[in-house]
Order: sequence, then structure tokens, then C-alpha cells
Amino acid sequence: MNGCGLYFHIPFCLSRCSYCDFCSLVDLDEPIVSAYLLDTIRELSFRLNEYPIQSIDTLYIGGGTPNAIDHKKIKTLFHSLGQFFTGTIREYTVELNPEQVTVSWMEMLRDSGVNRISLGAQSFWDPSLQTVRRRHTTDSFFRAYEIASQVFSAISIDLIMGLPNEPKEYASIAIAALRQLRPNHISIYQLELADNTPLYRQVMKEVVDLPIPSSTEANESLIIEFLAKEGYIHYETSNFCLPGYESLHNLHYWNNDDYFGIGLSAGGHIKNKRYQNTQNLEAYMRSLSMGSLPPPEYERENQPAEEGKETLFMGIRKAQGIWIPKLQSFLSDLEWKRFWDQICMSEQFETKDGYLRLAPHWFRKNREPIGKLIEIWDQSLTTKEKQTNPFC
Ligand code: SF4
Repeated sequence: MNGCGLYFHIPFCLSRCSYCDFCSLVDLDEPIVSAYLLDTIRELSFRLNEYPIQSIDTLYIGGGTPNAIDHKKIKTLFHSLGQFFTGTIREYTVELNPEQVTVSWMEMLRDSGVNRISLGAQSFWDPSLQTVRRRHTTDSFFRAYEIASQVFSAISIDLIMGLPNEPKEYASIAIAALRQLRPNHISIYQLELADNTPLYRQVMKEVVDLPIPSSTEANESLIIEFLAKEGYIHYETSNFCLPGYESLHNLHYWNNDDYFGIGLSAGGHIKNKRYQNTQNLEAYMRSLSMGSLPPPEYERENQPAEEGKETLFMGIRKAQGIWIPKLQSFLSDLEWKRFWDQICMSEQFETKDGYLRLAPHWFRKNREPIGKLIEIWDQSLTTKEKQTNPFC
């Protein structure tokens, strides 16, 4: 059986990046931050009462900006978390913004058991960083990386393609930076222009221009080619790593394993229950102070066919694909036959070593085949098992 993960959300930032629609607050009022951290520990204890689990194998502290808050508070949080579990946490990641990376933070993290750092670079082009109101520059990112790499060997960096001011020749800029840094894990995402963000409004008013998609696509292809030549494994649609440095925590998501999500807006999946906490800080804290779990944004008990569908659309993003017997276990024999007959007729999918995966041509351009996969899955179900799914 796969292990269980734990995601912990710290929803505080020093300022808002203009593209961000994550749940993060810029109110760093000290008493609220302290009370929030106590509430997250309460939430964890309530969730563990509901689903007793003694050990977890991955822990991911994300945000927001975990290093925006006082490092003594984070240290206390780590200590409290340690009281709940026995055994070794194989991968213990903290997400950091470069501008607050200091030697004392890194040493505190290492001494608390953290063994992996995720740093948000987003771009190596200062005009892009400035336009989207990131607080760091390319130079300060390099300094932060240097400090982090003196303490940690496992470092992941995030990049966003398609930011405003991204030049036509951006690939050569990014490749030069990646060659110098050589992180062992890289996530490359496309900018998603959410309509509740300042960037969206700027683009709509034509105050800010985005690069044309074909330019971004060409740059991304060159970066991916470079990574392949450098020995990086493209193991998930948006993720690359040197051998042995896959994100074990994210693999829990893509494998549809069990994981707790603790904190404001955090989501979890335990057995067949999927939930996401409220995004309202006041409601979150009020419930926990009254001894209840936070109100859910949504919460549902999945039927087998729904669990299967989630397994399908998350797992198909992995280069390895989905373990076919696991997928088959969610359907009756008749449903499986209907599903599999359709899959075998499509050139968008292939099988290898017992896994169903996207054919290479479709691995990066996966929107269409994933839509097709879900359609085939739904059509294979008997009427009474056809369910809607909040994830689709
Ligand atoms: S640092 Fe991250 S979470 Fe905070 S505003 Fe920027 S993108 Fe959003």
C-alpha cells in the first residue's frame, strides 16, 4: 500500500503577485498568525481522530509564503507536527520565496527534519518579474539558491511560461540560468490567467500584453529539449527531475493516494473522501476554536466509478501512466470491457508494462486526450453509476 501524505497550508504573503489566485492573505498580524497555526494543529488532530494514521511518508508545507512568517513560529509548528507521527518522513518539503531565504532559515529547516526545498523562481527575466509584482529579481533568486544549496541537496524550482514581457528569445535566457543552477527538480507551468486577478484586468484593459502563445510554446519546447539533453526525466506533464528526484509528495496527488490537507483552503483525499476546506479565514478559525472541523468548500464520499475517474485524469499526466489493474478495480467487468475496447481503438493512448499512458505525441498537449478519456469512462458506466464530479 502507498504511504500517506500531508499538505500544510500557510496562507500568508508579504504582498500579492498580480497573477495569483491562490488562497493567500497579506495580513501578517502576529496574533492572527499565531492563532491560525494553533488552529491548524487542532484541525490535524480532529482529522486524525476521524482517520487514525500513525505515520506519513511525505510532508509538504506550502502557501502562501511559509517563510513570510517569523521562523520561531514555524519551528514551533514543526515541533508540534512531530508529536503526531512515528516513523520516518521520506520527503519533507518547504516552499519558499527567494526574498526571505537566509542562512538561519535554512539551518532551522534542516535541523527540523526538512530535506527538500521548493523555490519559486517563476522567471529569469526581470521585466517579467517586475510586471507581475514578484518581490525578487533574477540576481536575488541566484543568491537565495546559493544559500539554499549550501544546506540542501534536493531543491525544486518553479517556472511560469507566458508571463508579460517574456521575450522571443526567452529560452536562451532560461537555459543559461538552468545550466548554471542545475536544480534536481523543475516544474514548468503555463500562466493561467484567472479572471479574479489584477493581471487579468490589466490584460483586459490592454495595459499589459502577454506574449503570443506560439512564441511561448517555441520557448518551452527549446527548454524541454535542453532538459532532456541534460539528463532530466520528463516524468509528469509539467515536471522534470534528475534521476531519483521525483516529487514523492506530488506523486501522491497524481496516484490518487491518501493525503491530508490541513489549513485554510487545503484539500485532502482520505480513503474515498475528498474535501476542501473553506477559504474564509474567520470561518476556518471560528469552527476550530469551537471544536469542529472547518466548514468545507466541498466534501464528498466518492463512489468507485468516481474514484476511478479521479485516478484516471490525475494519473494520465504521468509519463508512466496508470497501473491498469488499479483502474480496472473501479469498474464492473461489463463496464471495463466497454472502456477498454474504446481505449484500444484510440491512437491517443498506449500501454506499457501494465500501465495505460498517453502516446508520446499527446503527452504535453494533453487537454484533448484527457477530455476524451473522461468521456470514454463516463460512457462506459451503467446509467445509475454515472455521477458528476466536482473535479471535472
Ligand atoms: S508569493 Fe505565491 S501565494 Fe503569495 S501572492 Fe505570490 S504567487 Fe501568490
